[in-house]
Amino acid sequence: MVQLFLFVLFFAFGAAVFFLIKKTRSHEFIIPADLEDLLESHVAYYRELTSDKKKKFEERVRVFLSYIRIHGVNMKVENLDRVLVASSAIIPVFGFEDWRYFNLKDVLLYGDRFNAEDYAVTGDGRNTLGMVGDGPMQRMMILSKPALRQGFINETQKVNTGIHEFVHLLDKADGATDGIPEALLHRQYVIPWIKYMRDAMSRIKAGKSDIDPYGAVSQAEFFAVVSEYFFKRPDLLRINHPDLYGLLEKAFSQYPGQK
Ligand SMILES: [Zn+2]
Repeated sequence: MVQLFLFVLFFAFGAAVFFLIKKTRSHEFIIPADLEDLLESHVAYYRELTSDKKKKFEERVRVFLSYIRIHGVNMKVENLDRVLVASSAIIPVFGFEDWRYFNLKDVLLYGDRFNAEDYAVTGDGRNTLGMVGDGPMQRMMILSKPALRQGFINETQKVNTGIHEFVHLLDKADGATDGIPEALLHRQYVIPWIKYMRDAMSRIKAGKSDIDPYGAVSQAEFFAVVSEYFFKRPDLLRINHPDLYGLLEKAFSQYPGQK
């Protein structure tokens, strides 16, 4: 009986989201004309790139916005939101020239935190800032707009919700969201990575790490949390955790913080 109830609930939410997307179809695939200005003034990662790489980054953002739909749930999506979602997506894959997010179609933006159980923005469980969908929500990402923006406004913190969620998608590309990005990491580095991850998670649990404690929740969260650190504060990560920086530069095939 409980299973039947959950089954019905699951599909009811799937259907609700489907109709919501149909309703907002007219807003799909918008590429902002002021893309370069928005990147320059809001995305620190972009600002650090050479002019050649800036051009490549802009092109990657345009391509992303031409196949991913961004919808606002009871709120208007602004050009800045489109640019920040696309930047969150491109930053982790900038080292892979032809990467396409085949496991994503739609991004839903909420005006606040939401309940990860039923995607509601009201109620007790409204504490989630971002998530990658499963089941009927497959190929969908949900982000809190304030959290998305905050990740780029605050340039000194190690957090960025948008990058965090896109790293979960990269992790998922090999079939399992398990903190082991087999699709990215050369086989010889997989064992060192698993070993490093387990040791580092124990250090977080023992209170002996500057890595966000959320990284100790699971291997998948560890990978997403240290990736935020890698892309937001590569300078600090290289000093505080040189081995981790070394493994992540191999996984992502890029060297943030180094010209
Ligand atoms: Zn996460």
